Amino acid sequence: MTEQKQDTTVIVGGGHAAGALLANLLQQKYQGTVVLVGEEPYPPYQRPPLSKAYLSGETDQKALLMKPLSAYESAGFQIRLGVRVDSIDRANRCVSLSDQSTLTYDRLVLATGSKVRRLSAPGVESTGIHYLHDIADADHLRDALAAGKRLVIVGGGYIGLEVAASATKRGVKVTVLEAAERLMQRVTGPQVSAFLHDKHTRAGVDVRLGSAVKGFKIGHQGHVEGVLLANGECVPADVVLVSIGVVAETDLAEAAGITCDDGILVDQYVRTNDPSILAIGDCTRHRNLFFDNTQRLECVSNAVDQARTAAAMLTGENKPYDSVPWFWSNQFGVRLQMVGLSAGHDQSVVRGSPDSETFAVFYLRNSHVVAVDAVNMPLAFMVGKKLVARRATVDAQLLADIEFDIKSLA
Ligand SMILES: Cc1cc2nc3c(=O)[nH]c(=O)nc-3n(C[C@H](O)[C@H](O)[C@H](O)COP(=O)(O)OP(=O)(O)OC[C@H]3O[C@@H](n4cnc5c(N)ncnc54)[C@H](O)[C@@H]3O)c2cc1C
Repeated sequence: MTEQKQDTTVIVGGGHAAGALLANLLQQKYQGTVVLVGEEPYPPYQRPPLSKAYLSGETDQKALLMKPLSAYESAGFQIRLGVRVDSIDRANRCVSLSDQSTLTYDRLVLATGSKVRRLSAPGVESTGIHYLHDIADADHLRDALAAGKRLVIVGGGYIGLEVAASATKRGVKVTVLEAAERLMQRVTGPQVSAFLHDKHTRAGVDVRLGSAVKGFKIGHQGHVEGVLLANGECVPADVVLVSIGVVAETDLAEAAGITCDDGILVDQYVRTNDPSILAIGDCTRHRNLFFDNTQRLECVSNAVDQARTAAAMLTGENKPYDSVPWFWSNQFGVRLQMVGLSAGHDQSVVRGSPDSETFAVFYLRNSHVVAVDAVNMPLAFMVGKKLVARRATVDAQLLADIEFDIKSLA
């Protein structure tokens, strides 16, 4: 009897996408050899709590892990932590690691995620200025946020606002500086921006729109003392968080000649231009059924869905990635759930009332539902997911009529 050779799959990166891929391979009892190489010292973990329950001290590190290390090891998966993949030799199908070892692969999965966008401004290197992407960042930030401290957050996006809420809970005095004319402008419509602005302001957060940062005031010990604005004002600070978005981590792929364009380009089967290399999660740019353009998505749903597609590719099932992206955020007890992409909508319909803190905004393009943002309204989110997936045409008056049971639309 001839022995069948088992494929070796090497996964680069140990974040959410890699964790979801391992979970799928575990579930499908994948027979090949699996080696995960992750730069961070932890097995795959969930980042969303870092700006929410973990920062406010309501959950611990153990609860962040997607699975305990032993679950992977007992399945025979090799998990190599605290090691980087430095380069890919595509001709010989092997990768070189920062511990000077090499690994050969039959299939390589790039799950290198994203890295924070750095601010370039005088004084930005001084102590007291933080970024938030991993557990170590969250630990440093949490240690710095004692009650009574003044935290200035540069950037009024998801993460900045979540940190504002978590820090306020800890008794910290928070100011949010946003350069745009409204909060979360990149990802939501004006109704939700205005609601969040009001919510934060009423909770004591000083929200300043149209505030461009031009530098930092530094004290004698080299510690930040304030944030300098373009209008000449200095906002006093003990701690600063810069939260101005992320960029895809594509250095490794680019150096190996894999096609990238602000993200590793993948098709709906998460294949790169090299047939033996797949890419998943924040590091990718892709097209799916729901977008006219290629998109780079920085969210858990994309990481999980692309991981499922990669697992199908590795097990020979070849199912395309065709899920609708969705997002969530928690701020001051408000549960915001968003599905689809609202950019380019030509009509928005509000269901419920922002004053009651229970409402949803349906975004339509050419009468088709393209996105829904639901605030404490899980039913609208659930129905919205189905409407967006079907690109349904819906009577706007029905969506707005709170007496109408929208379940019937799903
Ligand atoms: C504070 C915070 C809050 C968030 N909240 C939400 C939320 O509420 N909802 C939501 O949908 N999304 C949220 N996100 C985004 C979500 O966490 C990401 O979309 C998700 O983690 C993407 O998974 P990923 O595996 O692609 O990348 P990542 O989780 O970033 O993991 C990539 C990993 O690869 C490692 N790596 C990179 N290069 C190499 C290399 N060469 N060798 C070895 N290892 C390497 C990195 O160190 C990292 O550990 C949040 C993110 C943050 C930071």
